[in-house]
Amino acid sequence: MKTCPYCAEDIKEAAVVCKHCGKDQPPPGHEVISAEWYAAYKRLSARPKDQQRRMLYSMELAQRTELRRISYLIESGKAVIPSVAPAAAPQPQQDNTLAGVASFFVPGLGQLVQGRVGAGILFFILASFCWLFFMGWVWHLIAAVDAAQWKG
Ligand SMILES: [Zn+2]
Repeated sequence: MKTCPYCAEDIKEAAVVCKHCGKDQPPPGHEVISAEWYAAYKRLSARPKDQQRRMLYSMELAQRTELRRISYLIESGKAVIPSVAPAAAPQPQQDNTLAGVASFFVPGLGQLVQGRVGAGILFFILASFCWLFFMGWVWHLIAAVDAAQWKG
């Protein structure tokens, strides 16, 4: 008997496919590398040789031995490398459309919508003040663009 490296169930020594999880078993002499160890190997191998040695000696003995063993497996083609890379967390996109539109009608309102009270009041005062003369639309426009582009 051996243990399936994917689901940890006991399977026959000669099994090619796990009867529990259906995953292909690594060929004899091969070993499945965990994503964590593969990432550690990648980090190590990306460094120049002298830094690699320093990195290895900064580890605990057990970790260093295991990383050396895994490096050997990977470099001699005896490693089954995880195919699923950890996915990067999607960046939440802030929707500034409403704030941009709000600032288009009332300068500073968009900033207020975004919870930036100080900026809202400042834009409102600047735009209102300038409307009295001739440059009001400039601040009006800046307020709208600022609200539309702000990343909170
Ligand atoms: Zn399995």
